[in-house]
Amino acid sequence: MTKTIFEKIILREIPATIHHEDDDLIIIDDINPVAPIHLLIIPKKKIETLNDLNVEDTELIGKMFHAAKKIAIKLGIDKSGYRTIFNCNEDGGQTVYHIHLHLIGGRSLGWPPG
Ligand code: AMP
Repeated sequence: MTKTIFEKIILREIPATIHHEDDDLIIIDDINPVAPIHLLIIPKKKIETLNDLNVEDTELIGKMFHAAKKIAIKLGIDKSGYRTIFNCNEDGGQTVYHIHLHLIGGRSLGWPPG
């Protein structure tokens, strides 16, 4: 199966700015940031979309949100606030079919999203 861009980043086949890595996750800067802080929290396990989640992935998803919280504190946006987003499929704006949690902050964000 063809590798996604995120698998290539995990395998160091293409470069990225890496903020954190452990056995389960990698956290990188988004290459096309929509705010002063725009990170992607990416599980090493390839799950194509949120629709492909299984109950055994519950802990992994929790870990992704915990990592988001920790890095928001580290970057000093926990008090000002931030947004976490999973996009799913075409109408959700998903472009990379390997789930990832966007962490966006560093400015006031509009609502509703476009
Ligand atoms: P989504 O549209 O939710 O699937 O998000 C995919 C995100 O990956 C977009 O925000 C892209 O800007 C980002 N992206 C694509 N290629 C790269 C890359 N090589 N390094 C970092 N982020 C990337």
